[in-house]
Formats: sequence, structure tokens, C-alpha cells
Amino acid sequence: MNDGLHSFIPSAAPATWLGIMGGGQLGRMFVHAAQAMGYKVAVLEPVRDCPASHAADHHLCADYADVAALDELAAQCIAVTTEFENVPAQSLEFLSARTFVAPAATCVSIAQDRIEEKRFFTECAATSGVLPAPHKLIASADDIDAIPDTLLPGILKTVRLGYDGKGQVRVRNRNEARAAFAAMNGVACVLEKMLPLAYEVSVLAARGADGRSVVYPIAENVHRDGILFATTVPGPNVSADCAHKAQDAALAIIAQLGYVGVLCIEFFVLQDGSLVINEMAPRPHNSGHYTIDACVTSQFAQQVRAMARLPLGDVRQHSPAAMLNILGDIWFEGDSEQPSEPAWDKVLALPGANLHLYGKDEPRRARKMGHVTFVAPTLAQAQANLHAACQILGIAA
Ligand code: ATP
Ligand code: MG
Repeated sequence: MNDGLHSFIPSAAPATWLGIMGGGQLGRMFVHAAQAMGYKVAVLEPVRDCPASHAADHHLCADYADVAALDELAAQCIAVTTEFENVPAQSLEFLSARTFVAPAATCVSIAQDRIEEKRFFTECAATSGVLPAPHKLIASADDIDAIPDTLLPGILKTVRLGYDGKGQVRVRNRNEARAAFAAMNGVACVLEKMLPLAYEVSVLAARGADGRSVVYPIAENVHRDGILFATTVPGPNVSADCAHKAQDAALAIIAQLGYVGVLCIEFFVLQDGSLVINEMAPRPHNSGHYTIDACVTSQFAQQVRAMARLPLGDVRQHSPAAMLNILGDIWFEGDSEQPSEPAWDKVLALPGANLHLYGKDEPRRARKMGHVTFVAPTLAQAQANLHAACQILGIAA
């Protein structure tokens, strides 16, 4: 129920509650930001002992589609958001008949489906100035026979539920594409042309219920094995022209969506300098974690402001920043199954280090356990400290 455009100004008594679907690390950092502004937060998440549950004022431990739990969340909270893009869009729709939901179910559902998302990006191209990679829907094995040769080599990605490089296979030719599609057990896929990337960037934008929007500085991202490895802002490779194009595209897209909240858009920059839009996340994003320590308003505080219909915050970056993701791998030496705690004291002794650990129950290889952001007077110093941290933690820099 969108009951006009009044703000939900935080107050001590009675408590004003915000709700969030999903209890992972993004939810946990959202809770921290909301509580800092005086809100109480309820988290709906089926996993007991999840990262956000330790910080939340109330944990509704239930399935994302549990009607009784959704009813309770809506009754308690003046607004609900999501930290997980694969919550059923129907649940957000259900909530929106009872409370204010931002971003809206329609926006989240576009981001849940790679084909819908690329169709939307293509529709926006006239105003955004960017196109997605050439691609085709692969709904059945016959579709592989019909694809043009120009799409190969390519990447076969499941249309739904992919993240951190999961649900995607690189294929050199039609036979490999057939084998990869068969291995996906017949779920709908998209075959995308493999592009010659020079580097990758992402842009965080936020839009308020009043239609005003803001855009953060562009971030340059390095991935390893399909998982974000490090984010540097300002990006060492990013030209001013590229930054403006990506930021303008993000603003055009967020407006076209009629979006409320924080949205992250990932782009590829090709070797010829052209910009290609990859995908969007309808929520704060791993590549935006640097905003916590390096910007006036963090991406999580911005999400709180947008959903509470408060004025959006200043996106100015006050220090160059380099963020390193901490995966569970570094708890294990060689093939050892016995985890040992990394030397955080040594990392924290580096200048400008800000350590964020997510309180996950156990370290596992390739599991995101935390991140560390280095802020410094110059980008070179932030990068040097990130490299020093890699050495301490046994990560190949
Ligand atoms: P996320 O964790 O960001 O949700 P994801 O699993 O949805 O990731 P993508 O962002 O589609 O996957 O791809 C992961 C990475 O694979 C990209 O960041 C990029 O490095 C590489 N990649 C994806 N598509 C292409 C492409 N068409 N050409 C070249 N590289 C690509
Ligand atoms: Mg991605």
C-alpha cells in the first residue's frame, strides 16, 4: 500500500520498523545502517543463525513464501526491501498490498530473468546508450542448431538463479554448447557471445520515491573464477568518458524502471573501449561495499533512506578505496580440512584497513566470509595496502 509520499522519519518511541527479505551479509549490513538511524529491523529468512539474524531486532525464520510470516512482516514494518534478488516476486507483490515495498516486485522480477533483463536493456538502449552482449535464448537443444556462428565461443548461462559464476559454462563450439545445455538438465539458458573484455565496472545508483536519483562514483572490478575478487574506486583503467557513459546509462535505466532504492549495474568495457551492459542487481552490491568506508552515505544507509522516503544522502567519495573480498579459502592451508583463523591483527595493522566479517557459521571454500576495504589519501597507497593484505592472507595478488 503506497499511502502517499510522506516520509517515515525514525523515532525512538514507538519504534519504527523496517523489514528485509533475506538474511545474508547484505541484510546484516543493512541492519547495521538502519539501526544507526534509529530503526528496528525485522528479517525474514529461512536459515536459522544467518548473518543478519545476529544483528536484527527480530528474525522471522520462515520460507520466503510463507504467508503467515509475510503477513507478520508487513504488519510490523512501515517498509520492506530485499537483499536477495531471488526472493519470489509474488512474495514482494503480496507484501506490497500491505506495506510499502522498495524496490517493487516488477523491478526485481526483471532482474531475476536474464532474458527479461536483456530485453529491458535493449528497450532502454535509445536513452541509456548501451546494449547487452549479443545473445540467444536456448529453451531446447534445437535452439543450439539455430544459433549464428558469431555467438561462438560463448557462455551458456541459466536464465534464472545464477550468481557468483554458478550456472554458467564457457563453450567453444556447438558440441560443447549441446553438452553444457544437457548438463543443465534442460532448464532455460541464454547463450551469450564471449566478449574481449578489457576490464569490468559497476555503477550504483539510487532513486527515491520522489523520483530524484543519485549515482555513485564508478567502481572497477576484478573477478576470479566468476566471483568478485577486488573493487577499486576510482578505477585505474576507467576514463572520464567511460565513467560518464556508465553513470548516465545507470540513471536512464533506474528512471525507466521507476525504481525506488539502490540498484547496481555491471558493465563490460571491451578492448576497443566500448561499453556493454551485463546485468543488474536490485539491491546493494558487493562492488558497492567500498561506500561504507569511503563515501559520505553508504549504499546501505542509502537503501534505508530510499525505503523510508527520506531525502537521499550525499554520494561523494572522500577517500580512494580498494576492497578485497575475503573468501573461506584462506581459512584452509593446502588441502587441509581444519580451518584456522587468518591473521586479522596483521591486516588491521595496515594503514586505512577496515575489516568487515559477516558472522557466518563456518568458513567454506568460495564462500564470502567478509571483506576488507583500504582507504588512503591516494589510490596507489590503497592498492599497495590491499596487496600487502593479500600477502599476509596468502592470497595471490
Ligand atoms: P554475479 O555474482 O555478478 O551475479 P553471475 O553469476 O550472475 O555473477 P555474470 O555477471 O553474468 O554472472 O558473469 C560473471 C563473470 O563472467 C563476469 O563478471 C565476467 O567476468 C564473465 N563474463 C560473463 N559474461 C561474459 C561475456 N559475455 N563475455 C566475457 N566475459 C563474461
Ligand atoms: Mg555479475
